[in-house]
Amino acid sequence: MCGLKKDQIYQIAIDGPAGAGKSTIAKLLASKLAFTYIDTGAMYRAITYKILKQCIPLNDVHAMIALAKQTEITIENEHIFLDQEDVTDLIRSEKVTKGVSTVASVKEIREEMVQFQKCISQHSHVVMDGRDIGTVVLTEADLKVFLTASVEERARRRFEELREQQPDVQLKAIEEQIKQRDYVDENREHDPLTPANDAVHIDSTSLSIHEVVENITQLFCEKIKKESVEKLVDGR
Ligand code: C5P
Repeated sequence: MCGLKKDQIYQIAIDGPAGAGKSTIAKLLASKLAFTYIDTGAMYRAITYKILKQCIPLNDVHAMIALAKQTEITIENEHIFLDQEDVTDLIRSEKVTKGVSTVASVKEIREEMVQFQKCISQHSHVVMDGRDIGTVVLTEADLKVFLTASVEERARRRFEELREQQPDVQLKAIEEQIKQRDYVDENREHDPLTPANDAVHIDSTSLSIHEVVENITQLFCEKIKKESVEKLVDGR
């Protein structure tokens, strides 16, 4: 698709606040381009799951760091394994969602995760989504997207997703939780959620999933073509 070079590794970074549709879109985009999809939020969720399971208080930073250092996280076919246990579904619990931003604000835990994320993006074309992908993890990505939507729309989407499994879920409570998570992610000291200077901003509030995927595909193809032309002109 769009003249990808055989000897080059391509990277697409997608960042944005909670519930903006990053993972749905990144997954579809990766499948369309035959790239590997890497969900970095799932890694922070996996370590949070382990911390909660071992009853480590979320204010015991030393214990959390020690645990993270003894933890093995792997990803295979979009499934996430924590010390070889498939935790893909377990990490989506309410408890994990509530605690994850606190865990993700710990510098040493971020360093472990970022190192791992950089490693796995060296060997295959990737679409990676998260909060610091364009600013910290894939600073040389071929395309950086900052995906947003209004908080009301993001809460509505999450509400529709959860309603089937949790009939008593409250829209207002989801909206509050999203605001709280965004606040912690945007205001933490280390690698806060912020758009990279060279990111393309897409507001998906009134766009369909298909429209966003098409939009990003087109942006990526244009970028690749532009880079090839620039290289030819410069004789690089
Ligand atoms: O993407 P998801 O909502 O699953 O991410 C869960 C949490 O993990 C985020 O709210 C954020 O605190 C943290 N995260 C992060 N950096 C990333 C990905 C996720 O801090 N690259």
